[in-house]
Amino acid sequence: MKGLSKNIFWAITTLLMIAFIFSLLYSEQEKPIVLTIDQLVAKINSEEISKISVNGNNLEIELKDGVQAISKKETEVGLTETLNNYGVDSVALQEVTLEIKEESGFRFWMGVLLPALLPLLIIVAIFWFIFRQAKSGMGQAFSFGKANIKLFSAFKDKVTFKDVAGLKESKEELLEVVDFLKRPKKYLELGARIPRGVLLLGLPGTGKTLLARAVAGESNVPFFHISGSEFVEMFVGVGASRVRDLFQTAKKAAPSIIFIDEIDAIGRERGAGLGGGHDEREQTLNQILVEMDGFDRDTKVIVIAATNRPDVLDSALLRPGRFDRRVILDLPDINDREAILKIHSKDKVLDKDIDLRKVAVRTPGFSGADLANLMNEAAIFAARKNQLFINQQDILDSIEKVLLGPERRSRAISLKEKETIAYHEAGHALVAASLKNADPVQKVSVVARGRAGGYTIKLPLEETHLRTKSQFLADLAVMFGGYVSEQLIFKDVSTGASSDIKEASELARKLITKFGMSEKLGPISFGKSDEMVFLGREIATEKNYSEKVAAEIDGEVKSMVDKAFNSAKKIITGRKKVLKTIAEKLIKEETIEKEAFDELIKKFRLKAVNV
Ligand code: ADP
Ligand code: MG
Ligand code: ZN
Repeated sequence: MKGLSKNIFWAITTLLMIAFIFSLLYSEQEKPIVLTIDQLVAKINSEEISKISVNGNNLEIELKDGVQAISKKETEVGLTETLNNYGVDSVALQEVTLEIKEESGFRFWMGVLLPALLPLLIIVAIFWFIFRQAKSGMGQAFSFGKANIKLFSAFKDKVTFKDVAGLKESKEELLEVVDFLKRPKKYLELGARIPRGVLLLGLPGTGKTLLARAVAGESNVPFFHISGSEFVEMFVGVGASRVRDLFQTAKKAAPSIIFIDEIDAIGRERGAGLGGGHDEREQTLNQILVEMDGFDRDTKVIVIAATNRPDVLDSALLRPGRFDRRVILDLPDINDREAILKIHSKDKVLDKDIDLRKVAVRTPGFSGADLANLMNEAAIFAARKNQLFINQQDILDSIEKVLLGPERRSRAISLKEKETIAYHEAGHALVAASLKNADPVQKVSVVARGRAGGYTIKLPLEETHLRTKSQFLADLAVMFGGYVSEQLIFKDVSTGASSDIKEASELARKLITKFGMSEKLGPISFGKSDEMVFLGREIATEKNYSEKVAAEIDGEVKSMVDKAFNSAKKIITGRKKVLKTIAEKLIKEETIEKEAFDELIKKFRLKAVNV
């Protein structure tokens, strides 16, 4: 509304200006007396006139007493004729000097054109105002190709690594990147290539955006921040031109960091799914790839992207030279949760005897964002009760409130579930530690990663490309460790083992039908498989063997699975005490790293067994 009244004001002002110019043009001489033709004729007859100048149809009359007057003659008719028509005395007329003046060019044209032009001018002025208003009103309508880039200064408060709790490995990984930007020479002189892309992976609320901001805060270089969804708009081609714009700006400001938050909004796998890909998204993605490929060896621009859906990312994004560095942000374990709670209680007024450790114990599965939210809810809760401090009970009572969020409920786990997951993972870990051919345990955790409730990472001692049958059998047994452990301890099994079972069955089938590892069936490859491009990545297998062989394969799969299962069962039943020790430690600490794990089981002096 403000804009409209402003424009009306301007329109009126312009009109007034035009009127003013007009009046100036016509008031350059002082107002003379106006005579009608018959008055003029009477004056000629009475010999009062000394001179008449004809200027178009205008008559400028000079009286003998020096007075000026004006008059008009009839158009298209000569002056003398007009005067004659009015009965002028021809003798008296001869006394009068007659002068025919050329009309001055400017005034003539103004006189002719202005009446015609004025309406036009007004219309043009009105259009101009409307146009101007539309332009300022719709703003981006004329600049949508420009990226809505936010510079670091757009962030109100500076964040550094100090403000990010836990995430130790992620921070270390990013520190290196920061160092690259701070001292590029050091790396370039040794021939190192500056990393181009860092992909932050993690569940929602694990601190990806926070960490990226911390990188900006630590490195003190220009930091361009844009969210993936901002690329994708309804105008085709906008995304790509925004990318171009973004990279251009960043290169000009190099060394600099580009942060693309929620890149999954654009980085979706191209050509996957039904109905073809999203064209616009594809163009945007392609442009990102083009820009990143266009970096020179010493382009000092680093692209950081964040996503919680690495599974949908296009594989082209993940190739070397693009987002070749991946930083995984796990959900916080109990120690990290305590640290995060501490960070978020800094600006709150807490009761003196508050024990954040106890809160951490009660919040397995909470993300950093959940914990920040928890502290905030507690503060609101306390304020509503007119308390001066937030006390322990306020925080504990708020846990449920935070849990009510639908997304959180699926992720957060109860203490009972935590116990189940702990025994499950302990089962995997124990079988892995017991078998001769299994890979050593690197890390055991009850903190969810992706879909899995917990996880046990085992890594081969050396990088190998070939795996033997006995190693595969050990893998199978390890996979059943979780299932067996749950069965033994709780006399029940949970759905948590379903992916293990699926994986184990698939592996066993592959060993028999692809790797020829069945003694009974021998080294024959069964089934012809083609990777089909449509319908995502469905693998269609053509059956090229008889029903009889199919039954035999099933039998072999079953016997292989049984063997692995029994082996796991024997180990876990025989080493129940070790299992309990691992599980209890897991419940208490949530994650056990390799060193701590080795230390833990050393005192049991486990003898390595075969499957
Ligand atoms: P993401 O981008 O991974 O979804 P954010 O970075 O937006 O998550 O995190 C949301 C909020 O949660 C942050 O602003 C911060 O307050 C809190 N938070 C998350 N992780 C941490 C952490 N490790 N340390 C401190 N605060 C955290
Ligand atoms: Mg985020
Ligand atoms: Zn498992």
